[in-house]
Amino acid sequence: MPEGHTIYRLAERHRTLFAGDKVLAASPQGRFAEGAALLSGSVLGDTEACGKHLLHHYDNGLSLHIHLGLYGKFADGDGAPPEPVGQVRLRLASDRHWLELRGPTVCELLSPVEVDALRNRLGVDPLRADADPTAAYARIRRSNVALAALLMDQSIVAGTGLIFVTEVLYRAGLPPTLPGRQLTPAAWTTIWADLVELMGAAVTAGKIDTVRPEHLPEAMGRPPRVDPHGGEVYVYRRAGLPCHVCGTEIRRGELAGRNSYWCPTCQPSSAGLAGSS
Ligand SMILES: [Zn+2]
Repeated sequence: MPEGHTIYRLAERHRTLFAGDKVLAASPQGRFAEGAALLSGSVLGDTEACGKHLLHHYDNGLSLHIHLGLYGKFADGDGAPPEPVGQVRLRLASDRHWLELRGPTVCELLSPVEVDALRNRLGVDPLRADADPTAAYARIRRSNVALAALLMDQSIVAGTGLIFVTEVLYRAGLPPTLPGRQLTPAAWTTIWADLVELMGAAVTAGKIDTVRPEHLPEAMGRPPRVDPHGGEVYVYRRAGLPCHVCGTEIRRGELAGRNSYWCPTCQPSSAGLAGSS
């Protein structure tokens, strides 16, 4: 599933393509026909990423809400839109550009009240300039759940997925199984700052890179990672491979229904145990 940086890039892209323009909307597949009819002919004011949710705000007071889920994909281009091929849920077209959406989990229209409700049920997004991580830490400190699961809970931190979470925990030297209530304020400050930095860099690069300069392939004389998700990482999908720092085999285990990855040497289970807060 795309993580927050991808949605943030889409919001920027769609703003560049359509903001200030009147758009014609259609649902060639038919499943969003009613919504498309309500949107068609309105002007896109602005776009916004809230965690993994994408919003288009239109001048008729409605907002288009999209969650890509596992299979959702956008395509766009210049000029007139092509003939729809396959299951196109939504097609937008201005005089200059077109956009197609296929396979999203959510494609719906929201009123301003519903947009507020969406924002309110999401946790703090490290990519937003107004992000305040205080409430997220309060939630984490009240929980016995494993830290990796808490950091992927979108009502606590929004936009984070498995890659950012496993990598940030590696960089902090904390095991993914650390109970939330044992996370110290200092460790939370480190993790939060790292999420802000890594996710911001991923927005710029269009991929997730988490290794420090001294662990890049050229610095270590090792071959670059080959993975369709791209980017250099420490532990994500590296089970059985040697840790870039200590050489120990990276482990994989299931946590809250998802795979988790960690280095048992760099992230020992004794790490991060809080004394007092
Ligand atoms: Zn290691």
